Amino acid sequence: MMVPFASFRPMEKELGDKLRAAFEEVLASSSYVRGEQCRLFEAEFAEYCGRKHCIGVGNGLDAIYLSLKALGIGQGDEVIVPSDTFIATALAVTYTGAVPVFAEPDMRTYNISPEEIEKHITDRTRAVIPVHLYGQPADMDRIMPIAKKHGLYVVEDCAQAHGALYKGRKVGSFGDAAAFSFYPGKNLGALGDGGAVVTDNEELADRIRALGNYGSDYKYHHIYQGNNSRLDEMQAAFLRVKLRELDRMNAFRRAAADRYSSGIVNREVILPFVAEGCEPVWHIYAVRSRKRDRLLSYLEDKGISAGMHYPCPIHLQKCYEELGMKRGSLPAAEEISATELSLPMFYGMTEEQTDYVIDAINSFV
Ligand SMILES: *Cc1c(COP(=O)(O)O)cnc(C)c1O
Repeated sequence: MMVPFASFRPMEKELGDKLRAAFEEVLASSSYVRGEQCRLFEAEFAEYCGRKHCIGVGNGLDAIYLSLKALGIGQGDEVIVPSDTFIATALAVTYTGAVPVFAEPDMRTYNISPEEIEKHITDRTRAVIPVHLYGQPADMDRIMPIAKKHGLYVVEDCAQAHGALYKGRKVGSFGDAAAFSFYPGKNLGALGDGGAVVTDNEELADRIRALGNYGSDYKYHHIYQGNNSRLDEMQAAFLRVKLRELDRMNAFRRAAADRYSSGIVNREVILPFVAEGCEPVWHIYAVRSRKRDRLLSYLEDKGISAGMHYPCPIHLQKCYEELGMKRGSLPAAEEISATELSLPMFYGMTEEQTDYVIDAINSFV
């Protein structure tokens, strides 16, 4: 049997007609950027997240970057981020002129550790970016008071966690702003690039909207040196179709994750931990093993494609050489990078496929 790491096929089969209808609607409207579809999606997604405002932008990286920029973060500032995340979290900080400061993860949840955030706060710290990694909510009940105590902004990176719940509340409803990516592979994915910021702060929302539209508040009037980062009408129309299916698709992932968690029994494999009060959305089903590399090729031999998220932590990436961080400087983040393995996980994966993966792992020695 072949089990891909991810596949869009089942989604395409089910939603193809609705997506084609959305395409036709946009085509018939002759409106492609900053039109009705984007406005409607913004309203629907803000409501879904339980926030007052949503601003569609070009991608998830820009959603984080524009949020930081709108909060006034720039040169001379420090922003605390995890190191075991996708590179975009740190790049967004760098683009503002600020410096990313890496804090270690909690080894059970793999999310940024509140105590570790506190250790890295200096006079220059302006914000913290908790990432809800793998679709597992970060510890917001402990992060928010720390931020408040030290006067720091919180920008949630929700790129992997659309719809995840923390103590009954959606992720994205905690920070000053929350950034989402709609890259096709995300839980809520467009058919191309897309992103959004949600916030309750109207002034901040206006600033982000202007910054993503050439710094313009009205036509040919530029109050900031802004960027071009907008959610186009096609992607917004596709996202409106897919937003209606998000909870159902997340529930599907949850069922597959439960099947993995109750089926996999192997001393060499550490299963994901779900913190109390958290309902993850399983963007990634992450296991760990000291024999990770061998497990990966063993699974490959059996036709199972697994992944690694992420094989090199950001502080050791070539592009961040300038920070001068050596191997061993963040042992927990490095440990996750060296041992993490992501099992196949996608909407429409069959129980036969899940069981095949379970059996393969259970017979690994
Ligand atoms: C995907 C991702 C991003 C970036 O989103 P893009 O839309 O690809 O720019 C940012 N942070 C995390 C954690 C991600 O997984």
